[in-house]
Parts: sequence; structure tokens; C-alpha cells
Amino acid sequence: SSNNQFANAPDTDYAQAELRQKGQQALEQVRNSLGKTYLPLIDGEYVETAEYINSVNPSRSSEIVGKIGLISVEQAEQAMQAAKTAFPTWQKTPATERAAILRKAAQIMEEKRHELNAWICLEVGKILPQADAEVSEAIDFCRYYADEMERLDSGYNYDIAGETNRYFYQPRGIAVVISPWNFPFAIATGMTVAALVTGNCTLLKPAETSSVIAAKIIEILVQAGIPKGVIQFVPGKGSQVGAYMVEHPDTHVIAFTGSREVGCRIYAEAAKLKPEQKHLKRVIAEMGGKNAIIVDESADLDQAVAGVVSSAFGYTGQKCSACSRVIVLEPIYNTFIERLVEATKSLNVGVADAPSTQVGPVIDANARDRILEYIAKGKEECQLALSMSAPDGGYFIPPTIFSDVSPDATIAQEEIFGPVLAVIKASNFDEALTIANSTDYALTGGLYSRTPDHIDRAYQEFEVGNLYINRTITGAIVARQPFGGFKLSGVGSKAGGPDYLLQFLEPRVVTENI
Ligand code: GLU
Repeated sequence: SSNNQFANAPDTDYAQAELRQKGQQALEQVRNSLGKTYLPLIDGEYVETAEYINSVNPSRSSEIVGKIGLISVEQAEQAMQAAKTAFPTWQKTPATERAAILRKAAQIMEEKRHELNAWICLEVGKILPQADAEVSEAIDFCRYYADEMERLDSGYNYDIAGETNRYFYQPRGIAVVISPWNFPFAIATGMTVAALVTGNCTLLKPAETSSVIAAKIIEILVQAGIPKGVIQFVPGKGSQVGAYMVEHPDTHVIAFTGSREVGCRIYAEAAKLKPEQKHLKRVIAEMGGKNAIIVDESADLDQAVAGVVSSAFGYTGQKCSACSRVIVLEPIYNTFIERLVEATKSLNVGVADAPSTQVGPVIDANARDRILEYIAKGKEECQLALSMSAPDGGYFIPPTIFSDVSPDATIAQEEIFGPVLAVIKASNFDEALTIANSTDYALTGGLYSRTPDHIDRAYQEFEVGNLYINRTITGAIVARQPFGGFKLSGVGSKAGGPDYLLQFLEPRVVTENI
């Protein structure tokens, strides 16, 4: 069945001079308010902390975007207790009221769109058009999950003569949301509002490098009317307070997006039953990818080259949906590489807030160093097809392409999370599919082809959660391309899709003999 009812928020059309100017003005304003302090929100109060960290602009690492208070384990416990206290009332709040708060949040996001875009641009180094798409996605998550909760709230009626049978949903309890820095606004909002609208009290722990944006989300949710204690903002060290909240006996749901390593650890820790715990935890973990695009000999090469470049180097390759392997059929292999290299060379690498920039920095020094190690490894194992120069002053790594990469080379198997693309040659379509499916991951994939038989086979045999044919493999849209993978790409159902909210709910049936 299909549902074409949902209206997605349109992105800003930066082709219009007036909107471009608004974008620049907002950047100017936000630059003037950098360096402020953001505190955790516990039981409705912004609280002081013993420890702080600076969140810096990855385009200019000397620029401090904000200072964030990190909670202690004691404060994590206070937040947990406050959430428990708030739960009975939030649980009883009608779904329509909870949905109305999300719709209000969406409206505030729409009003603050340019300002939010600017914060995203400056805190995580994302160019404005991509930051803008994130704000659209966050708005969509609020509105879609509001609609979805109202749909689920009507439950199911299995009445027969003499007996009513009512199937309905109740919240699970306390949700811990651990959000990533690469979609600091959209994904943090999506996981948080899903937990809230289903009636769970929610603790949001953002990735340290995107804490200021997370603080903005909290401000919006509070302004929209989320009651005291229902949402807690708990920035802190993942290994310390993150782990504490995951292991806490009162946690019911953990919604995580991030690395495979951390996701697997959360899954294992969450499975351990604590003495005072009377339930098993539900974990939703969205992890990595090693996504491939297959280009066959019938592909429109103009389209394929542009699509691969955008999928591989958009947001500097720091999307779990990004293309990091391109598998090219032998007859067009040389032509494709030549054109791919030419197209990539023309990309502007620079600070994310310059209007001409197409590829910005990577998130921090650790990421830069890790990616550089992979590039060094690639140079040992494979043929370097393109390396470009990068500006100074930020964490820049230019787009890098390796050719003649063996399907089992390290850079063809491990997630790099940076602008590094491995080009692999396949002698026929069967082999291309085998190579595509030969990693631990199953997140996104793509095929450029005009051969109906190849398209049909990819449909059936390309093992990924989101397959894209003759287009880019990033930029999933809520209620159009519900997003998420399987194998070691994650566990749980697709964000922005019809099963997502079910993970935050407990179904019940009441039978009455009448
Ligand atoms: N949903 C995003 C996309 O389709 C990717 C999310 C992620 O990188 O975590 O591009």
C-alpha cells in the first residue's frame, strides 16, 4: 500500500539571491554570538557543572563555537530520577497533545531555519545547502512522527459478539538518546521526538562535537511545550555518563546513531539484566556503512560521475550513507576513472561558510588523523588516482581516489568516514554484485544502469537497507525513503518510516467479556 499524504518541508532555494543573502546574514549574526556557555538541563533547570569542553569550528579550529557543561555521573542519576518522576503524567498526556508539541517545534524550526543552518555550518563544518536539508529533515521528523503517533493511537479493534478485544500501545518508560555529530540537528531531533511523542521521558546525550546544536534543539523543544522533567539535556563523556545511562536499570529504550564499535558495545551492555531491573531494554542502533555504487556498461556516464562525486564527497564523506566504493564494469572502467578524477578535481575544498565551498573540513583532529592513516594504508595497498591539496587552518582532507582497489583491501572493507573513494574493477555484473555484497555492512547502495535485467537483479540481490537506482545514494527523505540498514549497519527499524515509533512502544491487548 502507499501513502502519499505526507508533505515534506521544502529546502531553501539558494538560487534566489534574496535567500542566499539571508543565509549569509544569519552566518554573520551567529558568528557574533559564538563562544557562549551551554548548560545541561536537569529537571527543568539549567545546572552548573564541574567540567566543560569547547566545541570548535572545524573550518577554523581556533574559533570556539560554544562552551558546554559536561554532567557528572551524579547529575546523570539526578536526570534519571527526574525523568522517572515526570513519567506518570507524560504517559497519561493524550497523544494528540504530545503530537501538537512536535508540530509546534517544527514551526519554530521553520521560523529559525536560517539561524539553525548557520549554527550547523559553524559547529560541524557543513555547507549551508546541506545544513538546510538537515533542518528540513528535522521538521519532517517532527510532523511525520506526530502524524504517526496519532495513527497508532487509534489502535486496533478485534471485537466479536460478546467480547471486546482492544489492541493499543503504551510508552516503554525512559529513553536514552545518543546522537551523532554528522547529522547533529536532523538525527538528534528525529530520535528525540520519536521517544517523546510515544510518551517516553527522554535523556539526550549528544556527540561532544555537536553539543551546541543539541542545546538549540532542547531550547526549541522546551519552547514548544515539552514539560519539565520530560526532556533532559545530558551532555557528557560517552565512556562515562553515556555508559552509566545505558547500563542504568531504569532505562527502557536506547536510541543510538554512531559508530559500529560503540553501537555493538551498547547492544551488549544493554542486554545485561541488573538485579533491580524488571524489563529487558530495547536498543535501536544505526551504525556504519561501506556503501557501493555499481556502474555498468549501459550507464549514463554523465549521471553516474556526478552521482558518485556527490555521494562520495558530500559533507566530506562523513555520512553513513556515503559512497566509499564504486564498482565499475571493465568495458567502461578507464573512461569512468578519467571522468571521475576530472569531476572531483573541480570541487572547491574550503571553509564551510564560504558560499563557493563544496567540500568542507572533517569534524576534528582525531577524525583527520584516522582518515590520513587510511590514506597511507591505501597508498601501500592500491593505486592513488587523485590527491588534491587542502587549505590550512582547519581539519581539512581533500577528496582522495584510489583505483584498481582489490575488493578485500582494507580501504575497501573498513568504514573510513571521510572523503576517500575506492574504485574497484569488475569483469561482469555478477561479480559486481558479489563484490558489492562482500562487506560486513548493508546500509545504502546504488546502481547506474539502463539494463532492465541488471536493475531487476539489483532489486533482489543487492543486500542493503536503502538501494538507489540511477541517483545519488545519500539524502534520504522522511516518509519517502525511510532510512536504515541491516547486517552490521544496525539494528532496529527505519527512521522516517512507518515502523519506527513501534520500537518506543509496548503493545497491549485488553479483552472484555460482555
Ligand atoms: N539519512 C542520511 C542520508 O540518507 C544519512 C544518515 C547518517 O549518515 O547517519 O544521507
